[in-house]
Amino acid sequence: MAVLTGIRSKLPDVGTTIFTSMSRLAEEHGAINLAQGFPEFDCTPELQGLLEKYMRMGRNQYAPMAGVMVLREAIAEKNLAAGNRDYHPETEITITSGATEALYAAVSTIVRPGDEVILFEPAYDSYAPAIVTNGGVPVYITLPPQYEYVDWQQVEAAITSRTKAIMINTPHNPTGKVWDRADLEQLGTLAEKHNLLVISDEVYEHIIFDGRRHVSASAIASLAERTFVCGSFGKTFHITGWKQGYCLAPAELTAEFRKIHQFIVFSVFTPVQFALAEYLKEPAHYQALSAFYERKRDLFYNAIELIGFVMKPSEGSFFQNVCYENLSDEDDVVLAQRLTSESGVASIPVSAFYKQPTHYRTLRFCFAKHDETLLKAAERLGKVRW
Ligand code: PMP
Ligand code: GLN
Repeated sequence: MAVLTGIRSKLPDVGTTIFTSMSRLAEEHGAINLAQGFPEFDCTPELQGLLEKYMRMGRNQYAPMAGVMVLREAIAEKNLAAGNRDYHPETEITITSGATEALYAAVSTIVRPGDEVILFEPAYDSYAPAIVTNGGVPVYITLPPQYEYVDWQQVEAAITSRTKAIMINTPHNPTGKVWDRADLEQLGTLAEKHNLLVISDEVYEHIIFDGRRHVSASAIASLAERTFVCGSFGKTFHITGWKQGYCLAPAELTAEFRKIHQFIVFSVFTPVQFALAEYLKEPAHYQALSAFYERKRDLFYNAIELIGFVMKPSEGSFFQNVCYENLSDEDDVVLAQRLTSESGVASIPVSAFYKQPTHYRTLRFCFAKHDETLLKAAERLGKVRW
């Protein structure tokens, strides 16, 4: 029997996420699921073996609240080798339950009621709800899905006396845009001038194409001192279901971050942390990833090129956006549903990443799939009657 609690929703505008609903629809119709972003392939037997090894070794009780030290050390080393800030494993690195928890805990650490946080939309779906549940106010800089550059004057104009932080994401979900060093330096200049904190979502750091290099906020001196860098092993090692992430931040920020983290999860899955620490010792395990996905991006792009979409190759992440304005006027949610049920290919309508209704007529396809799956999906898309 339902109990009347009189509860007032903290997130009245939020329903089940678009990723869940499109995956459900794909399953219902037996469609190829290029919607929710997850790899179709498994992690390596080596990583699976390491997980088993540490479970059998009895590493099965609570990990330290901040994460097992060998993993924190491995992350520190990897980050330093990439030319980024030197984070101290003891006081500046925390292992989290995926990047989702890192992002939520970072927001929760800094946002008080009435604080404004600047977001660039299209924005990943967890950012705004994290701000709102903490009493904050998301302030949006709206960019088209195929944007070329950020107008930093527009960003500065959005800063008020209540602005607490800016959240960024590079490589970007859903647009596949990669910010270069100049963008991050501009951000650093603004953040310093207005004394803002930064939350930088870098979960696709190892999926970046055409010779581009990931520039972490932790590589820019003016940013590193005021940024929570949120990362994930889910994308890097094909283990989205293991929910292993981390947060890098200077000691003063990390001390406060851990006060929140310890009451969300306390600590995360222990044996995986030991397994990842050992696996990270071999840089080839993540350095090969960009080439692996670049080939898949090309395969999918070439296979859908003649359909008539307006598109440009994704710069990073495992998403390709396509604009169908030359083919149809249909609303993107309606079209994504129709393509799933009638043509057997599920995608994500990019309007789901915007706060206000938009008409960019753009769909996001995930190409983290077997070649046969991508080719089959492209063939089906080629037969759609627009
Ligand atoms: N940020 C972005 C941009 C993402 O795409 C995702 C998940 N795909 C996350 C954060 C969440 O990462 P995790 O699965 O490690 O929680
Ligand atoms: N980040 C994944 C995506 O963008 C989905 C994660 C989720 O389902 N919450 O598709």
